[in-house]
Amino acid sequence: MASIDLRSDTVTLPSTAMREAIFTAELGDDVFGEDPTVNRLEEMAAERMGKERGLFVASGTMANSVCVLTHCRRGEEVILGDKSHMFLNESGSMSAVGGVHPHTVLNQADGTMRPEDIEAAIRGNKVHLPRTRLICLENTHNWCSGAALSAEYTDSVAELAKRHGLLVHLDGARIFNAAIALGVDVKELTRGVDSVSFCFSKGLSAPVGSVVCGSEDFIAEARRTRKVLGGGMRQAGIIAAAGIVALEEMVERLAEDHVNARRLAEGIAQIDGLSIDVAAVQTNIIYFDLVSGRLSVEEFLKRLEEKGIKLLCIGRPARFRMVTHYGIGAEDIDVAVAGLREVMKES
Ligand SMILES: *Cc1c(COP(=O)(O)O)cnc(C)c1O
Repeated sequence: MASIDLRSDTVTLPSTAMREAIFTAELGDDVFGEDPTVNRLEEMAAERMGKERGLFVASGTMANSVCVLTHCRRGEEVILGDKSHMFLNESGSMSAVGGVHPHTVLNQADGTMRPEDIEAAIRGNKVHLPRTRLICLENTHNWCSGAALSAEYTDSVAELAKRHGLLVHLDGARIFNAAIALGVDVKELTRGVDSVSFCFSKGLSAPVGSVVCGSEDFIAEARRTRKVLGGGMRQAGIIAAAGIVALEEMVERLAEDHVNARRLAEGIAQIDGLSIDVAAVQTNIIYFDLVSGRLSVEEFLKRLEEKGIKLLCIGRPARFRMVTHYGIGAEDIDVAVAGLREVMKES
């Protein structure tokens, strides 16, 4: 029985074109700046993001860490959402590695932070207080239903930051999903920020890697930070080659993932014992709750697993996440919905 793995878009495997690009990639030592494939990928990424330069890194977490550690000194403070990936899911890296202090602001259901809440979190200039340096946004917002943050909202936060002499970093792990969902060029979502990172290894389906983009000066410093973190890789063109294919061939198809996520959400909405906010689904991530008391979380997951359907339980008390991606077709969605319906009927 084939498995339908909806735990994350990170489970995607490289396409045939990616494997061929990996096999034939031209290589060099990237720590010397001599890997032509990495250089090409960094240029392409910077161009797409509307920034001067790019820097290829091993993961999304490393991308965010490189940016925070480049923007901030020890003891300085970062304002970020209380449901942000950087706060919840990066092993506390900014404080663990950088000595940087996170200051959380409530994330609204749509992934934004209210400007007045951000403003209230900015520290005054007193000897007792950490210095605020950076504001971080996340687009799409993973834990807020994969919500896409608009260009207008991003611009307004960038403007607020500028007024207070602060910098803005955008965790754009799924920034192309946001651009596709909003029907805008990705540059509109990045134009106001000082740095942006995005992942090749999620919906874009490359096996490894992320990129950081920003000004020439920022990237020069970020290159040092990457080295400090042990992220200087040698013939990294082996993996960058797949990233080039991802940018060329995998961006437009993200729209299919959004259609499939919507189809999945609408199917789940019809099933007794499950609860979902269909209107919140804008991109490729859906959350739903098991509200029937007849089935434990463990039993629910086990019975789905027996049908080859994988999803993530994210707790509190019976909330689940499903993510659509390359390799999941409309027919898989129908099989998953039928499986969910059977499991609930049998219980
Ligand atoms: C996945 C993700 C990252 C980084 O992930 P890695 O697993 O370290 O590549 C960062 N931010 C968001 C919003 C993500 O979803």
